[in-house]
Amino acid sequence: MDLRFSAEDEAFRDEVRTFLEEGLGGDFAVTRGRGGPGDDDCLFDERLAWERHLGAHGWTCVAWPKEQGGRGLSLHQQVIYFEEYARARAPGRIGHIGETLLGPTLIAFGTADQQRRFLPGIVAGTELWCQGYSEPGAGSDLANVQTRAELVDGEWVVDGQKVWTSQAHWAHWCFVLARTDRSAPPHRGISYLLVPMRQDGVDTRPIHQMTGDSEFNEVFFSGARTASDNVVGEPGGGWTVAMGTLAFERGASTLGQNLMFLNEWDEVVAAARANGRVDDPVIRQRLADTWGRLRLMRLNALRIMSSSLDAPPAAMVTKLFWANLHRDLGELAMDVLGPASSLWRGASGNPGDGRWQRSWLYYQAASIFAGTNEIQRNIIGERVLGLPRS
Ligand SMILES: Cc1cc2nc3c(=O)[nH]c(=O)nc-3n(C[C@H](O)[C@H](O)[C@H](O)COP(=O)(O)OP(=O)(O)OC[C@H]3O[C@@H](n4cnc5c(N)ncnc54)[C@H](O)[C@@H]3O)c2cc1C
Repeated sequence: MDLRFSAEDEAFRDEVRTFLEEGLGGDFAVTRGRGGPGDDDCLFDERLAWERHLGAHGWTCVAWPKEQGGRGLSLHQQVIYFEEYARARAPGRIGHIGETLLGPTLIAFGTADQQRRFLPGIVAGTELWCQGYSEPGAGSDLANVQTRAELVDGEWVVDGQKVWTSQAHWAHWCFVLARTDRSAPPHRGISYLLVPMRQDGVDTRPIHQMTGDSEFNEVFFSGARTASDNVVGEPGGGWTVAMGTLAFERGASTLGQNLMFLNEWDEVVAAARANGRVDDPVIRQRLADTWGRLRLMRLNALRIMSSSLDAPPAAMVTKLFWANLHRDLGELAMDVLGPASSLWRGASGNPGDGRWQRSWLYYQAASIFAGTNEIQRNIIGERVLGLPRS
């Protein structure tokens, strides 16, 4: 695949840039640069309004097919969109779980009725979603989910506990993995249910994080109810659907993430210049090393997108690579700040008002969420290198 941009693509870039500049220059200026990782719990009303503004102008779900309410962008145009979004420092997307996880799952596995019912709310930003997979005893070992559901009088009745559920405190709906057949082997007998969050049987308790925010939660289901047809795939066949959701790797949006990291790298360089740390040969070496790895991340993303394979081996290193890269970038930022790195937000003389510290603390989680580093290494060992299973 030729990944150079055509004149038509460049005209599209202008269109995206103009739209973002107009929006973020006006009413939404306050959201600029906000709501990213480590800052996800901020400016809810403003970012929800931004989500709906994007939806009203056709700028959500840009990768989805048009017939499903998306914008049907080509891969090139998706790259441009995500890059311009990061370049404009547009706010972290409040609807990203619906757009990147549940929506593609419904498009691949849902019924026409489910697609008609749920996709428009994601596109418009009127219905927010959270992901109810992990439990206290089921993280890496997801097949061990113990939350259970049974059909009673034409409805699923759900009981159990989920944990680390990002954005559950905002969400209208949760896609829940629940055991619906306890006599079946672990990978069978699990169903993929769509459960409304705003009902008596759902108790959402925020978990206070070391960043000071509470962007994820414990969620307790006690007799929570959902309609019998709110099951995606066959009852008992939820494992296949759940793995499908996890496979919707954000190919093109990885490039936006890369640009976001590059913006951060620029700021670290600016901070190092400002306080003279740029003259330290070790700091210079680490800055150069990080920049090289950022370039590799971009080239690898382009290689994955241009591959004709469904699951190219290069895709399997992506998560491990960026998680470690960003951890090192955060540590570099802390070392560049020096003594100021221990100052919290609101403290005078704190460059970025605590943003760096928060980001550094938050990104410790990158080696855990979406598959821990150890699990990623197992995947690379077994599926790419062909090593024996552990
Ligand atoms: C910021 C954040 C947001 C999250 N958001 C969500 C969400 O919205 N919804 C959701 O469902 N979940 C969410 N999670 C949960 C996340 O998916 C789990 O934390 C992750 O899957 C790891 O599971 P665990 O925490 O139970 O750890 P465990 O699976 O108990 O792992 C503990 C340790 O053992 C290691 N380990 C486990 N199995 C193996 C193995 N086979 N080989 C080698 N080492 C192994 C792990 O690498 C880890 O170091 C989130 C987590 C974080 C940190």
